[in-house]
Amino acid sequence: MNETFYDVLRRQGISRRSFLKFCSLTAASLGLGNTFAPKIANAMETKPRTPVIWLHGLECTCCSESFIRSAHPLTKDVVLSMLSLDYDDTLMAAAGHQAEAIIEQVKSKYDGNYIVAVEGNPPLAEDGMFCIHGGRPFLEVLKETCAGAKAIISWGSCAAYGCVQAAKPNPTQATPIHKVISDKPIIKVPGCPPIAEVMTGVIAYILTFDRLPELDRQGRPKMFYGQRIHDKCYRRGHFDAGQFAEIWDDEASRKGYCLYKVGCKGPTTYNACSSMRWNGGISWPVQSGHGCIGCSEDGFWDKGSFYDRIVGMDNFGIEASADRVGGPVAGVVAGAIATHAVVTALSRSKKKSD
Ligand code: SF4
Ligand code: SF4
Repeated sequence: MNETFYDVLRRQGISRRSFLKFCSLTAASLGLGNTFAPKIANAMETKPRTPVIWLHGLECTCCSESFIRSAHPLTKDVVLSMLSLDYDDTLMAAAGHQAEAIIEQVKSKYDGNYIVAVEGNPPLAEDGMFCIHGGRPFLEVLKETCAGAKAIISWGSCAAYGCVQAAKPNPTQATPIHKVISDKPIIKVPGCPPIAEVMTGVIAYILTFDRLPELDRQGRPKMFYGQRIHDKCYRRGHFDAGQFAEIWDDEASRKGYCLYKVGCKGPTTYNACSSMRWNGGISWPVQSGHGCIGCSEDGFWDKGSFYDRIVGMDNFGIEASADRVGGPVAGVVAGAIATHAVVTALSRSKKKSD
């Protein structure tokens, strides 16, 4: 009999109390409210784990780095348990033919019922020869593996959009996943890399509810990409007051004024950085003194200098959703903050049980 998520968690020594806390905080982090906590618990107690094959194309592995270097090890344990991460050539112990055999096993045993998570993208030039996986072009492996999948996760801006390896003139023809796989549901989780808790939140949602969360027009989950960096930035008051850093390390910069004039792309970027922050909620790029470069937006790498100010944007100061300027998405911020609470609570639970 296939193990459920809950079986695995118990086997790993996670108490029922911690499990229920995880379910309740996960519901909050996803903006679903407390009534969804029992549904999450029920799904985790009764559903068999969903196998995930995690493939790597042209990329730098920063998405894996973000995921596995989460400041909250228990969250990682929980999610890895939920994932049944059967194949990840970066994380798995097996190598060579043994490793490749696992893909075939998952494909035949779970046909139509596994998830493919893709980090990086396939280069199409010269028959895909710029990225070789197990002796074959990555493009071939990707298409074959996705053929029996029920859904695809495009991790990071490389898989979602192409990113720097697709920068003009793109000599390898690096191409995002949705342009080579068109017959499967695809969720994009862009960023360079995405925030660890965004990655775990997306997986928790898909595995719990057996469907993709609500997506914006670009295919990103609204719960994490529904709001502009600019709208939750703690420097926003300075923006509204017309207080700007003019050059790096001037007096205004040292006072923490808005970084718009030194190139911050927060007003045109949709991501959870300003509400959820990074490294367990400790800080984020703007808090460290650098403007947002817009890494979760398509084409950010080819849009000129990161240090030139944005020009020609409508509705500049108005709170906005990605789909419709002027329509903020209720619950998103509360969700993002609550995700931080999830991982913090899990860390505490783990420490108590250790
Ligand atoms: S322009 Fe950048 S630094 Fe200024 S308020 Fe917006 S996001 Fe924050
Ligand atoms: S602040 Fe902007 S550039 Fe930095 S990680 Fe977030 S979205 Fe990407």
